[in-house]
Amino acid sequence: MNSTTGKCLCGQITVSITQEALNATEKIALCRCKNCCQSGGCLGSINVIAPISAVKISDEPKIYHDSNTDSGKTIQRAFCSNCGSPIYTVSPNMPGVQVFKLGLFDEIPKPSMELYCKSKPFWDKSIDGTKQFDTMPTK
Ligand SMILES: [Zn+2]
Ligand SMILES: [Zn+2]
Repeated sequence: MNSTTGKCLCGQITVSITQEALNATEKIALCRCKNCCQSGGCLGSINVIAPISAVKISDEPKIYHDSNTDSGKTIQRAFCSNCGSPIYTVSPNMPGVQVFKLGLFDEIPKPSMELYCKSKPFWDKSIDGTKQFDTMPTK
């Protein structure tokens, strides 16, 4: 199956995601929550929600159990133990999927939604054409 490969900053961890999962643009979100900002040292993270079967990871990332979450549930934040790049998150609220950081990839698809816009700094702009949510949309 056709897939695209990204890697952490040092290259220890590579992630391959099927093109099919990457093309499901409604599953691509910019998350502006404080936890994403802190774990990445940035303005947020661009993520794709991918079924575990659509992804191959080359190495075992380190897991941080993040319990300081909005939902109160502990999520797992996987990161490279060598360079610290965030790789993916897993949440008990979303069984069967991993949420991958698209910053690892050369080509970053445009997000279709923005989450936790309430945490956005006042000087930052939203991306044209996205659906914007103040927190996490509940489906
Ligand atoms: Zn690394
Ligand atoms: Zn987030």
